[in-house]
Amino acid sequence: MPKFSFEFYPPKTDEQRTQLDRTVRKLKAYSPEFVSVTFGAGGSTLSYTPETVRELRQKHKLNGVPHLSCMGGTREEIRELLSLYKALGCTRLVALRGDLPSGMARMGDLRYASDLVRFIREEHGDHFRIEVGAYPEMHPQADDALVDLQHFKAKMDAGADSAITQYFFNADAYFRFVDDVRKLGVTAPIVPGIMPISNFSQLKRFSDACGAEIPRWIGKRMQAYGDDADSIRELAADLVAGMCRRLLDAGVPELHFYTLNLARPTEAVLSRLG
Ligand code: FAD
Repeated sequence: MPKFSFEFYPPKTDEQRTQLDRTVRKLKAYSPEFVSVTFGAGGSTLSYTPETVRELRQKHKLNGVPHLSCMGGTREEIRELLSLYKALGCTRLVALRGDLPSGMARMGDLRYASDLVRFIREEHGDHFRIEVGAYPEMHPQADDALVDLQHFKAKMDAGADSAITQYFFNADAYFRFVDDVRKLGVTAPIVPGIMPISNFSQLKRFSDACGAEIPRWIGKRMQAYGDDADSIRELAADLVAGMCRRLLDAGVPELHFYTLNLARPTEAVLSRLG
């Protein structure tokens, strides 16, 4: 039986809170292994992630897992967040470098995700299971694919337990990445990150920024449907479910869904997986 996890972003308005609550109630039916909450670097947004993790753990009785990024933060701020998450009962974290919001110049005390993983291990030993990010189609700022793989290995060697990938629509990129890092000696699970397609133009914008490639033929098929939203939704769910089936058949034990706080696109994929 494959395991699932779902990723949410922390809501900031009452309307977004209601939407997330509705989504969580629906997706709870799939008994997720954990539900994670993204983290935005900088100022006032910092408190939204802990609040949402608390809500998921205490109100929904789910294994709420925070993302934590080091860019823009001081050691002391990260230390405080780690203590807060420990007090909330969290035993798992997604540790990232993060990206600075445009216009924010503060770099932070820790430079890379590997520094953050090392810091968490120094401060809390083995208390947290640490997930890190992986990029089957290369990190967008990396200019050398082999060096990027070495940096990934350094992150695992610093003490990460497993990795979740950036989303992709080309399963071969995932299989190649796993082969490459196994050759470097990484034995930890590499969980595919799955993006159910809900809005194609939004997806194109995201994908340009994060370096995920949308195969040309998928773009052409989507365009061919024009404004026919129902056909686009059906095609999107069929394509993503087909890729998930291929990954599961190849033996991946777990899938991590980027839900964008919407239940329907993820449910459409899961229902096709039976
Ligand atoms: P790193 O592993 O530190 O790598 C970043 C870049 O630096 C890479 O190009 C790498 O090759 C390079 N590098 C690493 N080590 C070195 C070194 N020693 N010397 C020189 N170069 C080096 N972002 C958020 O802001 N909030 C979130 O909640 C969030 N959640 C995410 C969840 C997942 C599963 C994934 C895959 C990504 C997520 N991101 C999130 C995006 C992520 O923060 C960005 O992709 C960011 O640009 C890189 O983060 P990282 O942890 O992968 O960085």
